[in-house]
Amino acid sequence: MKPFCRDTWVEVNLDAIRANVETFRSHIPASTSIIAVVKADGYGHGSVRVGEEALASGAESLAVAMLDEAIVLREAGIEAPILVLGFTPVESVELASRMNVELTAYNSDWIIQANTLLQQANLKPIGLQIKVDTGMGRLGVRTQEELLQVVSALEQSPKLVWSGVFTHFACADEKNTTHVRRQHETFQSLLQSLRDAGKKLPKIHCCNTAAAIAFPEWGYDSIRLGIGLYGLYPSPYMKERKDVSLVPALTLKTRIAHVKTATEPMTISYGATYCAQPGEQVATLPIGYADGFSRLLSNRGDVLYNGSRAPIIGKVCMDQFMVRLEQGTGQVGDEVVLYGKQGDEEISLDEVAAQIGTINYEVPCMLNYRIPRVYF
Ligand code: PLP
Repeated sequence: MKPFCRDTWVEVNLDAIRANVETFRSHIPASTSIIAVVKADGYGHGSVRVGEEALASGAESLAVAMLDEAIVLREAGIEAPILVLGFTPVESVELASRMNVELTAYNSDWIIQANTLLQQANLKPIGLQIKVDTGMGRLGVRTQEELLQVVSALEQSPKLVWSGVFTHFACADEKNTTHVRRQHETFQSLLQSLRDAGKKLPKIHCCNTAAAIAFPEWGYDSIRLGIGLYGLYPSPYMKERKDVSLVPALTLKTRIAHVKTATEPMTISYGATYCAQPGEQVATLPIGYADGFSRLLSNRGDVLYNGSRAPIIGKVCMDQFMVRLEQGTGQVGDEVVLYGKQGDEEISLDEVAAQIGTINYEVPCMLNYRIPRVYF
């Protein structure tokens, strides 16, 4: 029996995840490991199944944005190292220790408090990675002084083990490499200041997907592979470069819920923004903006039916929307592809992103808990 009732689902091709890990494995130096980034429920693909597949395909560890996401992975039985890339409220260090999850830090007060909390609770030490802000302007220490201060706080904290130092690039997906090169130089000089101060450096990493594609020689100990894991390119420019060939893993499907043929002009959906003409066949699909299918696709996007494009007509509603079927052969229950391939046609996440004015990252992330994920 199907574990869900609705006729809309996401299919995730785990072979694609495997192929993408292997592609990056052969693109980067052999000494560089892969941290599979499965935050935001694996960019909407499902963090547990994608994480397991990535680990089985050659990734060494996983990264998420927040501790809650790490707990989901641990509760699913994943034992590989997990790094939280974002901020963790200091009170949560106890849970991180119990769950054996590595955290990110960039502030000595936080480090001192975290150490005290772990000592008071008599818990096991946790791994801590230092985030360096070299030009993203988001999280991290910015100067040599701050960095040395944070390292020295760590050295005086027996319950915290300094396990890594990393930075994040803001413009690695762009043709103009000025900013990313400047960030890398800043990172290198901060690392050098640590060496000059006699510090033994832990694991070093800086590359996201875009930097791993364009600058594999900056791999250091690891790359943090996010969007590329899912078979998507970080930007249209990165795709054009053709350095790596990626396989998109996600297909969004539904089935026709209702079909009618207009016998006279028939207005469609809220606002009556589309009027079907006599003879036009209109199919209703059971998915809407409450599922994360953007309302900005109203009267704009297409779906795939019988291997051809069918236009979305009228406004996308909360749980449903309508399409025009050119062939006029639609039947209730017929399969429709919203994102992905059907026959020779494809609606890529890049195309949808361009239509709704965003980046491909956001499109699968928008697909929420209402849509079941199916793996094959
Ligand atoms: N590292 C950090 C700190 C991130 O925030 C992200 C994603 O935003 C990644 C790595 C992965 O980036 P990408 O998906 O571009 O590979």
